[in-house]
Amino acid sequence: MEDLNELKPCPFCGGEAELIREHRKGRALTGSVVRCKNDHCGCRGKWFIVAAEYSSDEKAIEAWNRRVD
Ligand SMILES: [Zn+2]
Repeated sequence: MEDLNELKPCPFCGGEAELIREHRKGRALTGSVVRCKNDHCGCRGKWFIVAAEYSSDEKAIEAWNRRVD
């Protein structure tokens, strides 16, 4: 278990969150984003493009966890 992968619960509904990789509409770019698993809530964190210079997964998790604080 890595601390970096520890996601805080959703700040709005308190539900479980998950890290996903997804494509931006109309672009061949993949990014990392954390979203709430609750379909009725639908909230999501900041989207980070997958790049060689940094871990987009970590950035997405960081941004999500900061927002919860
Ligand atoms: Zn939520």
